[in-house]
Amino acid sequence: MGALKKLVARALQCCACCLSVLVCANAQSTRPPDRARTAKTLFAQSAIHILDREFQDPGISYLLFDAQTQTLLSSRWKDSARPIPLGSLVKPFTALAYAQAHNFVYPTHVCKGEASGCWRIHPHGELDIVTAVAVSCNSYFRALTASLRGEQLLLTTTAFGLDPPAAELTGVSLMGLGEQWAISPLHMARGYLELYRRREQPGVRELLKGMAESARRGTGAGVGRALQPTDALVKTGTAPCTHPHSAPADGFVVALVPANQPEILLMIRVHGVAGAKAAVTAGHMLQRMND
Ligand SMILES: [Zn+2]
Repeated sequence: MGALKKLVARALQCCACCLSVLVCANAQSTRPPDRARTAKTLFAQSAIHILDREFQDPGISYLLFDAQTQTLLSSRWKDSARPIPLGSLVKPFTALAYAQAHNFVYPTHVCKGEASGCWRIHPHGELDIVTAVAVSCNSYFRALTASLRGEQLLLTTTAFGLDPPAAELTGVSLMGLGEQWAISPLHMARGYLELYRRREQPGVRELLKGMAESARRGTGAGVGRALQPTDALVKTGTAPCTHPHSAPADGFVVALVPANQPEILLMIRVHGVAGAKAAVTAGHMLQRMND
């Protein structure tokens, strides 16, 4: 992590304590100004202002969280509490529900590309859960959700604060295909913060490793390339568009940065593109915040 980035990250981290300082202002009114804190706050403000100033494209929606305090720092996302389809962003949570029912053993699978129902024409070949998350292989997740029912996800969705799928829902809807399972973007962002918080729990390590791989060479490579040499944890998704001026699909990205002890979580939606392309936009945003 670069020195500036560290400062920005620490500044973002500082926001919550600054808020609490404001809340406690009456009790601490005689306290001398904390120059270090003031400087950090300026960095936090500058990161927030960059998002505000440079990314006003109405096709981009975003939520920016302090990953350590789970505080929402900045957002421009109309109706972010309203559940919408979020595509493959659900996959890690579906995988975890599967793992809980299978002694935390994830399957391996051979993807034959389009022929086995993948979004990719050419085969991904043999995959474990790490690679399946990294490349968001639909063939792998078709197999994983084939015998899964919505009711089996209830424990997981409750634990991670996600809107649950209908109990009778089965198959590909549970890997985020189509629009049957809608989740609030705010809940999804917090779900990923919770996933990182539970990084030591059974079944979670593989999923976070897959997200790190996604940023390096998977569907989230747009973030990884922009942030080099800093690593990130990324998951992408593509889902039916819910904007008033409808496009065939919207792209979604969740990025936790840096991968080792994330300081921020950025979740974005880009109108009319696939998730991998939205990752390029997310990478650009994160890079500007880091400059
Ligand atoms: Zn595949």
